[in-house]
Amino acid sequence: MSDIKIITTSTVRKVLKYEELIPAIERCLVSFSRGKIQQPVRSTVEVEKHEGFIAIMPAYDKEEDTFAMKVVSLYPNNGENGLPTHATTILYMQARTGLLLATMEAEVITDMRTAATSAVATKYLAPDNAKVLAIFGAGAQAKSHFYALNHLHKFEEVIIWNRTANNGKKLCEEISKHCKSVRFCSSAEKAASKADVIVTVTLSTTPILYGRWLKDGVHINSVGACRPTWREMDDECMNQCDLYVDSREGALKESGDIIMCQPKKLINGEIGEVIDGKCKVDRNKKTIFKSLGMAIEDVASAHLVWKKVN
Ligand code: NDP
Repeated sequence: MSDIKIITTSTVRKVLKYEELIPAIERCLVSFSRGKIQQPVRSTVEVEKHEGFIAIMPAYDKEEDTFAMKVVSLYPNNGENGLPTHATTILYMQARTGLLLATMEAEVITDMRTAATSAVATKYLAPDNAKVLAIFGAGAQAKSHFYALNHLHKFEEVIIWNRTANNGKKLCEEISKHCKSVRFCSSAEKAASKADVIVTVTLSTTPILYGRWLKDGVHINSVGACRPTWREMDDECMNQCDLYVDSREGALKESGDIIMCQPKKLINGEIGEVIDGKCKVDRNKKTIFKSLGMAIEDVASAHLVWKKVN
C-alpha cells in the first residue's frame, strides 16, 4: 500500500480555486437531487459538558466514483479564547478499494465549499440586477462568502454587519482591496433594508434577521443556525420568502429556522432541482437558500485537491 498523504491547509489554499470549485459544486448539487449521491444525514454527538458537538459526514458520488468523510467539531465558545470555533478533517478514500489515500486539513475546504454553494444558489435565486450585498457576520464564513460571491458577481456595494464592530471593520478593511465600496454598518436593520442579497453567517441561536426589514425581491443565503433549536431568521422572514434548501432531508432534521417556524414553512425545492430545471423559480419574489452543508460538497472539493496534488 502506498503512503497516505497528509494534505495541509497551506496546500489546500494553494490549489483550491473558485473557478473550478463553483462548477464542481453546481454539478454535485444536481447529482444529489437526482439521487446519484449516497449520503446519510450527518450523525452528531453532543459534548454537553463543553457546549460543543462533533459530526460525521460521509458521502459517495456514484457518477464520479469518489468517496470521502469529514469529521467536524463545532465549539461556539472557542471564539472567546481566541480558538477556531470549527475544526475539520477529511478522510479521502479510494472508492474502488476503500483504502485511505489522504487526510486533509479541511478548514479552507469547509469555508470555500460552503461559500461556493451559496454562490451557486445566488446565481439561480437572486434578482438579476442585484447591486448591494449585505453580510451578517465577520468570521471565516463571512470572508469566504465575500470572495465566492464577488467571484461570481460584481456588487456595487458590500455592507458588513457584525455583533462586534471591530471584527466587522477588520473584515471591511481586508475586502476593500477587492471591491470599490465596502462599509461597516452598526445597524442590522439598515444593512438588511438596502440589500438585494443577504448572507447570514453567524453563530447566533436567535434571530438576527427580521422579515420586516426585507426589500422586495431580496435573496438570502442563510448559512448559520445549523442546529434544530437555533435560528437566524424570524418567522416573518421565513414566511415572506420562497424557501430552497440543499437537502430536504437534512433541512427537516437540522434547521431550527424551518423546524421551529410558525406556521409550518413548506420547502419549495432543493437547489439541485432548481439548477436541473425541475423546480421553477420566480426571481421577483423574496427567496431564501437555507444551507446546512452537505458531505458531497466536501467530497467534490477534496477530489479537486487530490487531483492537483497527485
Ligand atoms: P466564526 O467563529 O469564524 O464566526 C462566527 C461569527 O458569528 C462572528 O462574526 C461572530 O461575531 C458571530 N456571532 C457569534 N455569536 C453571535 C451571536 N450570538 N449573535 C450574533 N453574531 C454572533 O464561524 P464561521 O464563520 O466559521 O461560521 C459561521 C456560521 O456558519 C456558523 O453558524 C457555522 O456553524 C455555519 N456554517 C455553516 C456551514 C454550512 O455548510 N451551512 C458550514 C460551516 C459553517 P463576533 O465577531 O461578534 O464574535
